[in-house]
Amino acid sequence: MNLEKMKVLKFGGTSVANPESLFKVITILKADPFEKITVVVSAFGGVTDMLLSMYANALSGGTIPANLLNEIEKRHLDTIKEMIPIAHQNNSIGTLKIQLNTLESLLEAVGLLEESTPKIYAKIIGMGELMAATIIAAIFEAQGLDVIYKDAREIIKTKKVNGRQIVDYPASAAQTLPFFKENKHRIVLVPGFIASNEKDQMTTLGRGGSDFSAAILSYVLDAQALEIWTDVSGMFTANPKLVPQAIPIPKITYQEAMELSHFGAKVIYPPTLQPLIEKEIPVYIKNTFDSNAEGTLIYKNTDNANNGIVKGISHIDNIAMITLEGSGMVGLPGVSKRLFESLYEHKINVIMITQASSEYSICLAVKESDVEIAQETINQQFEYEIASYKIAPAKVERNMANIAVVGEKMKDHQGISGKLFSSVGANNINIRAIAQGASERNISIIIDRKNIKKALNTIHESFFELQIKELNLFIIGVGNVGGKLLAQIQKQQSYLLENLQLRIRVVALSNSRKMVLKDSGIDLTTWEKTLQSSTVAADKEAFFKHAKKQNLRNSVFIDNTADPIIAGEYKRYLENSIGVVTCNKIACSDTLPNYQNLKRISRKYGSPFLFETNVGAGLPIIDTLHNLMASGDKITKIQAILSGSLNFVFGHFKDGVSFHDVVIQAMEQGYTEPDPKIDLSGTDVARKILILARESGYALNMEDIQNESFLPDEVLQTTNKDDFFKALENHKSHFDNLLQTAEKNGTRLKYIAQLDNGEVQVGLQEVAPEHDFYHLEGSDNIVLFYTHRYVEQPLIVKGAGAGAEVTAAGIFGDIIRTGKR
Ligand code: ADP
Ligand code: ASP
Ligand code: MG
Repeated sequence: MNLEKMKVLKFGGTSVANPESLFKVITILKADPFEKITVVVSAFGGVTDMLLSMYANALSGGTIPANLLNEIEKRHLDTIKEMIPIAHQNNSIGTLKIQLNTLESLLEAVGLLEESTPKIYAKIIGMGELMAATIIAAIFEAQGLDVIYKDAREIIKTKKVNGRQIVDYPASAAQTLPFFKENKHRIVLVPGFIASNEKDQMTTLGRGGSDFSAAILSYVLDAQALEIWTDVSGMFTANPKLVPQAIPIPKITYQEAMELSHFGAKVIYPPTLQPLIEKEIPVYIKNTFDSNAEGTLIYKNTDNANNGIVKGISHIDNIAMITLEGSGMVGLPGVSKRLFESLYEHKINVIMITQASSEYSICLAVKESDVEIAQETINQQFEYEIASYKIAPAKVERNMANIAVVGEKMKDHQGISGKLFSSVGANNINIRAIAQGASERNISIIIDRKNIKKALNTIHESFFELQIKELNLFIIGVGNVGGKLLAQIQKQQSYLLENLQLRIRVVALSNSRKMVLKDSGIDLTTWEKTLQSSTVAADKEAFFKHAKKQNLRNSVFIDNTADPIIAGEYKRYLENSIGVVTCNKIACSDTLPNYQNLKRISRKYGSPFLFETNVGAGLPIIDTLHNLMASGDKITKIQAILSGSLNFVFGHFKDGVSFHDVVIQAMEQGYTEPDPKIDLSGTDVARKILILARESGYALNMEDIQNESFLPDEVLQTTNKDDFFKALENHKSHFDNLLQTAEKNGTRLKYIAQLDNGEVQVGLQEVAPEHDFYHLEGSDNIVLFYTHRYVEQPLIVKGAGAGAEVTAAGIFGDIIRTGKR
């Protein structure tokens, strides 16, 4: 065989999981222009895991789980039956039976003895590759490929060095080359993952080791290229299963790819690239299920124009942290040496190390499965120092995760770590430890495991998504205002993405009966149908738990209701770093301690709490107030008409029209609160001016507001809508009197709120024609701010202050504000 134009292709577990995927593999091989191909295959997807679990079960004396054994048998048998013509099935079925019998006997032996040896272990967990490869060879033949099967144990050799099995390249070459030189077939099919040692006993190359098998053969055979065929279209900027926005990296250097795989990018097994570097054999990561996708090229980078400073982000999510500290460590030479040597002796891989410059403590990260032994080892090593209180016993913290940001060029650029930390910090994720790899190709952070998805997405966003910020909305209330809000968001989505780099997704939606939870975002063109057909009952508890558990970055809870129960929810959202945007006035006009508490929590957790629509619907009233205060101004007086409803009512209350009818009209046109008495009694205006006063820095309560109602007592005392309207009718003459007096005086009736020197009043007043408020029309609002800077002429905000459309617009504005933070 001419080895000069040889290529090695490795197909992983999912690529050979079932007949459907195997047909794809066959198509790929038939289309490949290479004359000589070596194919390395893994076990059928999931089989190695099943073997391992049976092995562990046997070791602890358990019997063989029949379901697993049956499933393994069935999957292989079904594949034979579907892909090999009946006349040729016997051979494969016979071989499979023998392999399964061997497996069963081995497991029984381990079960009886409750102990094992490395050889038996390898025989059991390597059986998946043996079964798969023998069957696949027969399938290839049956499907018309020119193939020969070669057992990897005959050609890939390992040897023991310092108690570890490592690959013996010269011995592997000595076994491999003669066979390949003699071979006349186009394809040599080799099981991955397994090998044999100097005593010809079976060994394995570690979990995920089929990639390594393929690399060893590529090295030994001087292959032109190695192709790793898997279930994703390349090495991605982050694990695509956790970061949906991740994209394949077109080209990456060996070192960068090694760093990413070492720190968790499972798409390549970490030792794989090492042998290939020396011979500069390029590696392509390709997708079996989308063979036309370009994939990733891993190579020796010679062109300096290689794109991107940060190439990718990877993570390991089962990490534990060990801290060793004590005054006895300061200046004591050899502490780190002793520490790391003792860990090395116990084959414990240290993932990350940081040492405080005070030398007072060393912190390191290891796989959680190693932590117990690591702790024991360290405590033994420093037994003397611990006994004499120079060093404290090793402290262990579990449930951590490591995130590594990787890129060859990072060392030449400043601000990478700053960007990393600020993006993580802005989402309230605590960083427990930081390390920059000596290669400076990698910055690693350790965080709580529960934050992993959020952190990955946040970091990915800040390095790869051109400042595109994603907002995840949890919306309660889809009535008048909520419905309009959803329509506005739907209409604006693409504009915001293009112009403000904001991606807005509604990930949860609830009315009082039903809810829909969907992380990938609810389609807003059909939200009504989706919500109607939902089978999930509305449940504020489950809604919150979901938001907390999903832990999405830039999450915002939106309350479009007027419901006190929903207002009671804000606290826990804010405490979990979820922003709150609300048009519901109840929380901000609640008791002073409750209001102050929410503001404090919002500051403490960095969660935005915005309620612009509490006053004047969509008008920028609170925002203006905040801007004044932030620039150092002080509010001395506010005069305002803050009730679109009352303005509408008094605007339409003319001779010949009854007050009762006008109120009905206002209600029907959506200008009042669901309960119009809240407007008419002045309560709503009182709440609004209270909120403005509080936001201006006055610590006031509802009781501090003087509210002289224009409603007769009987109307005020009603407890339901029907009685309320009846009472309005009964008191027709009272309202007619108010109107006639005003007309006689040449004035107009306006409901005015005022804050002056910390005193707050609301009430109906007669306004003379020369007053700013006289000409206010329809449902408009107006606010006059008198401040240290605006002494004579107030700063005026005026415009439409009620209505579902403008309120929704105000909420939308707040949502966008959260995105700009
Ligand atoms: P195979 O069975 O083909 O060897 P693996 O499951 O070992 O496949 O590796 C592929 C998987 O690696 C992907 O499905 C993906 O979940 C995971 N993965 C983790 N990090 C990355 C990354 N940065 N790019 C691509 N895949 C990744
Ligand atoms: N089947 C082995 C494993 O699952 C090897 C591999 O898939 O690369 O670890
Ligand atoms: Mg793999």
